[in-house]
Formats: sequence, C-alpha cells, structure tokens
Amino acid sequence: MSQKQLSIYLAAPRGFCAGVDRAIKIVEMALEKWGAPVFVRHEIVHNKFVVDSLREKGAVFVEELEECPDDRPVIFSAHGVPKSVPAEANRRNMQFVDATCPLVSKVHIEAERHHANGLQMVMIGHAGHPETVGTMGQLPTGEVLLVETPDDVATLQPRDENALAFITQTTLSVDDTIEIITALKARFPTIVGPHKEDICYATTNRQEAVKAVAPRVDAMLVIGAPNSSNSRRLVEVARNAGCTYSQLVQRATDIDWRALEGINALGITAGASAPDVLINEVVDAFKDRFDATLEIVETAQENVEFKVPRILREAV
Ligand code: SF4
Repeated sequence: MSQKQLSIYLAAPRGFCAGVDRAIKIVEMALEKWGAPVFVRHEIVHNKFVVDSLREKGAVFVEELEECPDDRPVIFSAHGVPKSVPAEANRRNMQFVDATCPLVSKVHIEAERHHANGLQMVMIGHAGHPETVGTMGQLPTGEVLLVETPDDVATLQPRDENALAFITQTTLSVDDTIEIITALKARFPTIVGPHKEDICYATTNRQEAVKAVAPRVDAMLVIGAPNSSNSRRLVEVARNAGCTYSQLVQRATDIDWRALEGINALGITAGASAPDVLINEVVDAFKDRFDATLEIVETAQENVEFKVPRILREAV
C-alpha cells in the first residue's frame, strides 16, 4: 500500500541559539580542562537530552550551590543566577564559571543601571523561572516587582509611580509582552524601558518563523522540553497564528500518531535548547510513515556567536 502524502514545513530559524551553544561548550571545555566531576548549578539549558549527554561525560547537575563541594569547579546555567550565588562561591573560594547568556547579563546590567538612578524595577516574566529568579536577584529584595499578565499591572504598588523602569525575561511571547508594556505605559506614563523589550533575537526569530508556518499547516510540533520557556511560547504562538493542533514534544517517542492521522501539512520547529539530533529524529519518524516532502520556511538568518569565558580559553 502506498504511503499517505505529507508536506512538512520546517521553520527556520529553529533550535539552538548562540547562548545555548556557548553554555554547552562551557561545560564541555570545563570537563576537558579540569576533568570530571564538574558541577553544574541547575540544568545548563532546559533540555533533558543535552543534560543527560553532559552527565555521561562527567557533569553533575545540582539545584543549589550548597550541594557542591568546595574543591570542584561549578558552572552557573545559561539562565543566570542571583548575585548571592557568585558571592557565596567567592566566599567559599570555589572555582566557578558563569554560563549566563550574554543577552541575559545585558538585562542584569540594565536593571543595575536603573537602580543606580533611583528607579524601582518592574520585571515582565514568569514567576519561579530561573531567569526571572536570577534577574530579580541582581537587586535587593523589593526593588524588582514582577508582573506576568496585563491584569497584574493594575494591582502593582510601586514606591513612587514616577520613578519606575521595566525589564523583561528574554524568552517571552513578543505579542503578549507588548500587551503588558502597553498596560504599564498606560498606568505609569513616565516608566522607562528598553526601546522595545528585552526579548532576545533567538526568541523573536523563532516566533516569527512559526507565525509564517502556522497558517499553512494542519498541525505544528515544537521540539522542546516542558520547562523550556521559549519552546512553550512557540506552541502558544502557533495556536494564536491559527494552528489549533500545536504540541510540544521532547522527541519522536512523544508524537501522538493517532491525532495526526488526517493531516496533509505539518509544521516543525524547535526551541532554543533543542539539539539538531532530536529535530532530525522527529523529521525522520515522519519520513518513515509518510510519503513526505520537506520545505524550509526561512524568515531570518542568524550569525550570532558568543565567546566562552577567558578562563576556559587558557591552558591548564
Ligand atoms: S534564548 Fe536568547 S537569552 Fe536565552 S540563551 Fe538563547 S540567545 Fe540567550
């Protein structure tokens, strides 16, 4: 029996961003330089496959610094850490490498600059996400107020309504964030902020590509982890752009084949922490079951690269 035809549209850009690439390299280079074990505070990037492969090479993942011994190197994840974490590592004389994405560090610097100018910060982000925790932890408690939705803006109680600035998590939905910024500016007309928001190039580009693919397909699969903020946003963006069946899958074994039986066109993308090997695995799974054609829908080209910290470029 001949196989059913399927048009696959692969969003581009998709998958690894420069910050994730750098963070993974940092762990690999640290293992080469200092040997195993190297401790990593929090999942270096939100992807089980990546974490498991680094674990096999000798990385030990922990949630808190207190779980690390003093005499082994520790790496801080790409999401960033509160100031108290490197301070504690210094106090304990630990060797540490900060893998915080430079685009997250940029937001930390913005927050500090506004704070130095006497402004209280409003952060648009998701409560409990490590990036939000890390960014809020750059300033003393109470100096950063968190909002997650436009409704939260109405209940904010700042110290001085005329001395406010806003920053954002880097992996939010561009469209949802615009709504929150509009609500902030309506209630606090003098609030200071970045030109647009702090959402990074990788998040923006992946969302734009999904918007171009979504109207052409019957279903969209986003390869990414359930705790990956930018991957979850891609699922929402696809739904909002008209693709009602939009699902997050970690790898091919997660695909609900029954739900996809009647489709003629499928969109595939991947969050910034999902490696190519998992994207290829999903594409191959469809090629096995369908008479599939593949088209790449490219809305931007990326050539961003971040250097690893100097300490890893130096000889042992
Ligand atoms: S998603 Fe953006 S902020 Fe996060 S690691 Fe990648 S480039 Fe950096």
